[in-house]
Amino acid sequence: MESDIHQISGIVATLPNARQRALEPLLPLEQELAFHVLRFDSPRPGPALIVTAAVHGNETHGSFAIQRIVQQLINSELQLLCGRLSLVPVTNPKAWRLQQRQGDRNLNRRFRPPTQPIDYEDHVAHWLCPLLAEHDGLLDLHSFQSGDQAFALFGPENNQNELEAFAKAEQEEAIALRLGCDRFVYGWLDTYAKGMAKRASRLKAGLTPMDSVDIDPAYGVGTTEYMRSVGGWAITLECGQHDDPAGREVAYQAIINCLRCLGMLAGPMPEPSPKPEVMGLFDVFDRYDSNDTFARPWKSFDRVNQGEIIARRADGEIVRTAEDAYVIFPNPKAQAGQEWFYLARPGGRLGV
Ligand SMILES: [Zn+2]
Repeated sequence: MESDIHQISGIVATLPNARQRALEPLLPLEQELAFHVLRFDSPRPGPALIVTAAVHGNETHGSFAIQRIVQQLINSELQLLCGRLSLVPVTNPKAWRLQQRQGDRNLNRRFRPPTQPIDYEDHVAHWLCPLLAEHDGLLDLHSFQSGDQAFALFGPENNQNELEAFAKAEQEEAIALRLGCDRFVYGWLDTYAKGMAKRASRLKAGLTPMDSVDIDPAYGVGTTEYMRSVGGWAITLECGQHDDPAGREVAYQAIINCLRCLGMLAGPMPEPSPKPEVMGLFDVFDRYDSNDTFARPWKSFDRVNQGEIIARRADGEIVRTAEDAYVIFPNPKAQAGQEWFYLARPGGRLGV
């Protein structure tokens, strides 16, 4: 990975170099890398797209893809036909420097402009929230620990509900379908809210001793949910496994395809995924006790059949699925009181 970095020259050399990253956790704030956006404005008006990478500091495929796009824009291999393209190669510089998921906390939870920035991620949000709001759409590039193929997360149907009002579902889904991946997941925030409601009722019933657990649905708001809350569309692309260099190409192609969908780059309109595998999250289960265990070492997108045992709780309760489903985001290391795994059902959306 480092040799690739050293092949990069010119303007992109100003991006943080892995070799220069200090692993000192307690650097003073002013010694952290400055927040950094590269902005390209065509003389012709058009859509405003922002692409973010390394929201989680150990997820770098998007950072490499952005470096390549920047170079190609600067040497005219790529030409921005209209609109504005903003590229954030390292959204969370502290987490990037530490080569880990987060600095002080997960940036992708309770993401909103802070009244008074306290922890490091508050400072990121203080900078990033107004920047996102200047754009029409967000492509947010991530990667995952275990799994076999890239997938995109998209938002709700158009609705006027309080939780996540939205009016750009058709555009968001049309772009998601053309990013280059074949697997799609939706239903994050309402499933998260459902989980918070279950958690709150257990708290109320005195079934959980932890008064520190979070029961605020807003805790599920990350950069994409925030983007929708300020009128934009937003897609998360999980480009591949963290250490698989192929993920960089997935990220690069997704940016190109997104720009072509928006008419911001010359080239044919990307074809939609020929065989989209779509799943809607519908339930989430907390781990109650550190002795709650999975029946199998689940990976995201493992299929479970109706009635199949997913897990056993410390008190003997057996957790089964009531219908055929997929296990999504299983976390065998979840702390007691936190999300343990999600269930999704096949189909439902992306009919654009
Ligand atoms: Zn991530």
